[in-house]
Parts: sequence; C-alpha cells; structure tokens
Amino acid sequence: MSLLELRNLTVTYPGGAAAVRGVDLSVAAGEKLGIAGESGCGKSTLALAALRLLPVGTQVGGQILLDGEDILAMRWGRVRAVRWAGASIVFQGAMHSLNPVHRVGEQIAEPILLHGRATAAAAKKRTGELLEQVGLPAARATAYPHELSGGQRQRVMIAMALACDPRLVVADEPTTALDVMIQAQILGLIERLVSEQDVALVMISHDLAVLADTCDRLAVMYAGRVVEEGPARAVHENARHPYAQALSGAFPRIGDPASRFAPRGLPGDPPDPFALPAGCAFQPRCPVSLPECATEDQPLREAAAGRVAACVHVGAPGANAATARNGGTARDGATEPENTGSTP
Ligand code: ADP
Ligand code: MG
Repeated sequence: MSLLELRNLTVTYPGGAAAVRGVDLSVAAGEKLGIAGESGCGKSTLALAALRLLPVGTQVGGQILLDGEDILAMRWGRVRAVRWAGASIVFQGAMHSLNPVHRVGEQIAEPILLHGRATAAAAKKRTGELLEQVGLPAARATAYPHELSGGQRQRVMIAMALACDPRLVVADEPTTALDVMIQAQILGLIERLVSEQDVALVMISHDLAVLADTCDRLAVMYAGRVVEEGPARAVHENARHPYAQALSGAFPRIGDPASRFAPRGLPGDPPDPFALPAGCAFQPRCPVSLPECATEDQPLREAAAGRVAACVHVGAPGANAATARNGGTARDGATEPENTGSTP
C-alpha cells in the first residue's frame, strides 16, 4: 500500500482558480518523489492540500490517503495529530516560517511537546540531537532566527520537520531562496536524512536536474495536471512530454557536457488558472502541437514501462494502464514521436 496516495485530486481556490485539476500520484514508504514545474503550475497547492493547509473556502475534490486514512475526511484533532508525526513540511522561506521572537530551540521543541512525546527536559535533549543531525551545534538552540544565516535557518526547518519522526516529509522548494553552494548542501542534507531514517520525501522544485539527482521518481506538472511521470533519471534525461523536454533543457545538469549547448528556451508563461485554454493547456507554447491539440486535452498514457505522459505524440495503441486509471480514452493510431531528448 502507498504511504501517500492522491486520487483525482482537484483544488479550486475561492474565486475560482483551478490550481490542481485531477492529479493521481502515489508515494511508497521511504520513496522519494520529485514534483517539477514552473511557478504557478499548482505544486505548492498540491503540497498544502496533502497536509490540509489550504485557506478556508478552498474546494478540494478527490481523495488524499495518508497510510490509507482519508485526510480530507479527518476531524481537526486528527489532522493536528497527523501533522508533524505523520507528515511534515519544509517551506521555501524559512524566515517566514520561523517565529522571529522565539529561540529556534523552543520552536523545534514545540511539536515534540505538543505531541505529548516528551517531558520538557527530554524535548530539550532531543532538540540538541536534532540540531546536530542537521549540522548545527546543539548550543545554537538559544539563537533567534535573525541570528542565523539563510542556510542555517533552513537547517532548523528541517530539524523541525523531523522532530516527531514523520513517515513523510514534503519539501516545497526548500533551497530556492538560498545561494547555489548552500543549496547543494541543504539538498544533500535532506537526501541523507530521509534515506537514513527511511522517511518518504515529496520534493518540489522548478529544477528538474535537482530533482533527478535527489529523487526516485519524478512527476512534471503543468497547469494543475501531471503531464509526465516516471523514474527520475529517465524523465530528466529522456523526457517524452514537450513541456518536460523544455524543462530538462532549461536547467541542464551542472558539469554535464550537454550544458555547453544553449538551454532550450521556452517562451511565454503557464496559463492563468482563471483562463485555461481549450484542449491541451500546453498547446499555446508547444513547439510540436497538432491542430487537434487546440481542442482535445490529452490523458496520461503509457510512454514506456513505468512511464506515462499526456501528449498526442506519446503512446502505443492499446497500451494503457494510465489511461484507464485516469478514466480517459486511448486514441488508437497515436504514433511515437521522434524523441528529441534533452540534448539538442
Ligand atoms: P506553484 O507552487 O507551482 O508555483 P501554486 O500552487 O502556488 O503553484 O499556484 C497555482 C495557482 O494557484 C497559481 O495560479 C496561483 O496564482 C493560484 N493560487 C495560489 N494560492 C492561491 C490562493 N490562496 N488564492 C487564489 N489563488 C491562489
Ligand atoms: Mg510553489
């Protein structure tokens, strides 16, 4: 059974922005799933939905199962219990997530105490251990957030996320606000800790290369949908959906000879969720669109073993676990495109 399972998840914000539109995803215990996509594609919305952190008045459809338990059907008391201990989240801007007037040690100890796991003395000891695990001296517990660097604050956030031994950590662009050297350190830290502690990870980033290095599987989101999913390395190195191809070209791997070539540009922006185009949402930016793409949306179809992509150019006739899963219909006769890969 999956640890986290999203079934036909839809999220519509008050006012009508359709931010997530029918997403099916699952994460096994201990597995690392990356979610990629440009800003505005619905990645954070998906993460917030999974922890029931969306603003009041947001409409959520479908199911979110954590260890088989429906998060959307839980009472608030249960939701609070599950947060931290079942699943926890690391956000992008640690400065905004940490309380500026409390010492970081108190903030790490808070969820430990809240969950009735420990006495004050034991929570303090555990806080010191957690700080050391994330590479900070235990004595830094007495620091206020403004006394720490951006990277150190993000380490504190990671310590908080791990404080109650969760089975799942969601990291939403955990390094985007940091400079490049520090980014690599923090990513390495997250990866090491989740692997050592056998915690499942959902890592969100706009950078496909970072996710390919960190995660087992990758899902690429566009305009609130998953447009491609598969083993992380395969998706990054040999993307099948034109959007995933553009993303993998836009962020070449550092040190890869392929990065000597100019990254493949992708003009324009993702669509406004208030004004989604008819047909495939990527069609207005797609370099290989066909006339029917302007009117027909494409379901996810099997692109190769263990891989799905939602593109008119992808999918052998008849081969269709993913299509069945999404309730769509396969288009017979769809042909395999020449795969252009990530190296132009
Ligand atoms: P990402 O994390 O991929 O950048 P988000 O999930 O933050 O994307 O946003 C998806 C879409 O939902 C965007 O168009 C954004 O403007 C919209 N959105 C996000 N938060 C809210 C909100 N609280 N109210 C209304 N619309 C929102
Ligand atoms: Mg976001």
